[in-house]
Amino acid sequence: MTEPKPIIIWFRKDFRLADHKALCEASRSGRPIIPVVVLDEVTETFGAAPKWRLAQAIEHFNDRLKAVGSRLILRRGTFADELLALAQETGAGDIWWTRAYDPDAIMRDTKVKSSLKEAGIGAESWPGHLLFEPWAVTTKQGGFFKVYSPMWRAVKDLDVAPPDPAPLRLMAPQKWPDSDRLSGWALDKSMDRGAKVLARHANVGESAAHARLANFLSGSIGAYKERRDYPAQNATSRLSENLAWGEIGPRTVWHAGLHAHLEGQRGAEHFLKELVWREFSYHLAFHTPEITHKNWRSEWDAFPWSDHEDEEVLRWKQGRTGVPLVDAAMREMYVTGHMHNRGRMIVGSYLTKHMLKHWRIGQKWFEECLIDWDPAANAMGWQWVAGSGPDAAPYFRIFNPETQAQKFDAEQTYIQRFVAERAPDPGPEALAFFDACPRAWGLSPDDPYPTPIVGLAEGRQRALAAYEAR
Ligand code: FAD
Repeated sequence: MTEPKPIIIWFRKDFRLADHKALCEASRSGRPIIPVVVLDEVTETFGAAPKWRLAQAIEHFNDRLKAVGSRLILRRGTFADELLALAQETGAGDIWWTRAYDPDAIMRDTKVKSSLKEAGIGAESWPGHLLFEPWAVTTKQGGFFKVYSPMWRAVKDLDVAPPDPAPLRLMAPQKWPDSDRLSGWALDKSMDRGAKVLARHANVGESAAHARLANFLSGSIGAYKERRDYPAQNATSRLSENLAWGEIGPRTVWHAGLHAHLEGQRGAEHFLKELVWREFSYHLAFHTPEITHKNWRSEWDAFPWSDHEDEEVLRWKQGRTGVPLVDAAMREMYVTGHMHNRGRMIVGSYLTKHMLKHWRIGQKWFEECLIDWDPAANAMGWQWVAGSGPDAAPYFRIFNPETQAQKFDAEQTYIQRFVAERAPDPGPEALAFFDACPRAWGLSPDDPYPTPIVGLAEGRQRALAAYEAR
């Protein structure tokens, strides 16, 4: 009897078995499955931390696949060429993948789909990265949402299908095709000595993601709404890292949050609202792809933000602005690959308002350093902070980092955790920054803490004057 034609599942940012529609349907079909990851030139341009984190995701996912009788095939080259070659080599009849919605991915996937179809290979994309397809949710007039709150109201009572369980076994092909070695891809190369530091903070893989969710549900969700703004408290889920790499599916997280809400957990509804901010970011990236690289509101094009990566920008990146809360947050990101949401808002406001630098500089640096880097959430977050985005914080609302510190880090716990020069007896995370950052920066924990780049009152005045004059 001839073997049915295999299905190739092309994995990109969906490194999980459960809540994976394409994989689940492929497994139900009874056909052999060949899981593949292709490293193309776009992926090669990912920032240092996301690239390193991708390698971790791939390694763990390969182990997960082995446990169900499968394995991950690695290929390097242009997506369409590599997938086509693999299909021809293995006799696969179809290539399936989980849909992506950011503009680069859409362009690439459209090309891949048409090349595969031309070659007579079935090409199908499946939902899974989001709760709601961006075109399936519309305003009453049939348009897309430019403001978050009405989108929340429109989706909060919609049915979300329960997540598919993980297949217990995946049928292997008669012969496995050749695969690259992950180490040969050297995805950790640009991390240099920072990789060791980051590895202590990453929470890699599907099992770790589920454990993180369970931990959040049994611990922090009740007080989530009250405590989520305090960066020193471990009060948020930290699931952004796993959602970014698809190590947990959004439906799984949604249903867990909904269950907690129905059980009367106080913070659960607010948690669901945050998940819808993630949906909103993809809704915007899909309907207005320019959000990832241009001012969403073109009236900001003439604003005198500087694009120049000067000494001040370097100090911002190094967490040496002389403003303790800004510096703590910048170093949190460098050491852990994550930055608390309040930190992201404060460092963003400081860069685009007090320092008058373009939000794209910040967007790019986050893209370099975050292990939860997400093209849609990052773009929306930066344009929200800068004031140029839809439903954004008004530009004239300028965060005062000192007042923010008094309110959200009154004991300076967060500042001292990350800024060695501000701590009487610096702890491991504050010191780790000096192990992680490039030697060329020449920084030492014994350096004096720098004086501010710009006085808070002066920076605020300058930003408001630029706003008035625009
Ligand atoms: P929780 O508080 O536990 O929230 C649960 C989930 O909801 C998160 O995991 C995330 O998926 C989603 N979520 C929460 N807040 C937001 C938000 N404001 N926008 C979109 N989704 C949200 N998030 C990223 O995942 N990747 C990024 O690259 C990113 N860049 C950002 C840049 C800026 C300038 C700003 C202001 C925000 C950015 N965010 C980004 C959003 C937010 O800061 C993080 O999602 C959040 O801090 C993640 O921590 P958590 O998982 O503990 O969140």
